[in-house]
Amino acid sequence: MAEPFLSIQGVKKSFGPTTVVQDFNLDVGSGEFVSFLGPSGCGKTTVLRMVAGFEEPSAGSIHIGGRDITRLKPNQRNVGMVFQAYALFPNLTVAQNVAFGLKVAGVSKADSDRRVAEMLDLIKLPQFGDRYPYQLSGGQQQRVALARALAPKPKVLLLDEPLSALDAKVRVSLRDEIRSIQRELGITTIFVTHDQEEALSISDRIVVMYGGKAEQVGTPFEIYNRPQTRFVANFVGTLNLLEGTVTDASTGAVQVEAQDITLPHKLNGAQTGEAVSLALRPEAITLGPRPENDAVLRGEIAEVHFLGSVIRVRVGVGRSVVSLDTFNNSATPPPTVGQKIEISFSSNDLLVLH
Ligand code: ATP
Repeated sequence: MAEPFLSIQGVKKSFGPTTVVQDFNLDVGSGEFVSFLGPSGCGKTTVLRMVAGFEEPSAGSIHIGGRDITRLKPNQRNVGMVFQAYALFPNLTVAQNVAFGLKVAGVSKADSDRRVAEMLDLIKLPQFGDRYPYQLSGGQQQRVALARALAPKPKVLLLDEPLSALDAKVRVSLRDEIRSIQRELGITTIFVTHDQEEALSISDRIVVMYGGKAEQVGTPFEIYNRPQTRFVANFVGTLNLLEGTVTDASTGAVQVEAQDITLPHKLNGAQTGEAVSLALRPEAITLGPRPENDAVLRGEIAEVHFLGSVIRVRVGVGRSVVSLDTFNNSATPPPTVGQKIEISFSSNDLLVLH
């Protein structure tokens, strides 16, 4: 990354004796869209609120565009924020809501009117200026909240679970709209969510958080395909875990459910005799052998779920059950429950956790 635009360095936050964010470091590039993803209580909102200026860090510093903003008031930081619940002023019209930050900043009426019209066009609600929040749907209210945050031309946009109160269909369409507006404006953005699909689909990079710490920072591809910790592997996507024991670390021999496979160079430092978990995504496992797959296990079909384009199959391997996905192909009938089969995978697609 060139010079980071938003830089969070060594940030910690304690409430009384409880530390809820520890040693948090993150550089965000100009125009980048970064998501904070993690379970409830992991500290996502607290980090966001420290960037916004609603909480003061117990240690560390935050810079925007090279300027130290750690101790500045929220209105001196040039950041815009959208909250989970629609935080529009109910007694103000849509236009007055969008103009709010401009009025506070002392922008002239003519400039403010122009900017409000521009913002309402941007969120595709040009005719809605005179309506009141109660006359809008949830999705429309969140678009107005976005317009209100963007109207004063903030340098950083902070979004705190802005989609979580919306129903599934609106959530997906507004998610795409937020991303396209963000790209159009090129605004540096942090988006907080506990929804992994949301984070994977919208972000340039994801910070997976757990227990007040950043567990892993990476692109959606890296986070999904190359999780570095057990927590990340489990939290993001469906994961099969096969328990095994290393029988010879020098050759990569591992015993899984009384069957032997060899995982040369993949043991991730595990020693002979050590218990390991083999983590595999459903789409990395094939029914039957394949030339490029170097690991084969015998099993029995336990369940078959027809999902349309994909068939998810559950396969019993000894006492373990693994899920795998196969594409529906109208020429080939799906497997049947009880059928004895082999599954195979490439050791390249597997992560050894120990
Ligand atoms: P959620 O998705 O549920 O909002 P989160 O990851 O955003 O979770 P935070 O809201 O950042 O988590 O909270 C992290 C921890 O800090 C929680 O255990 C919370 O109870 C605690 N916490 C947050 N604000 C305060 C406060 N003002 N005083 C005391 N504890 C707080």
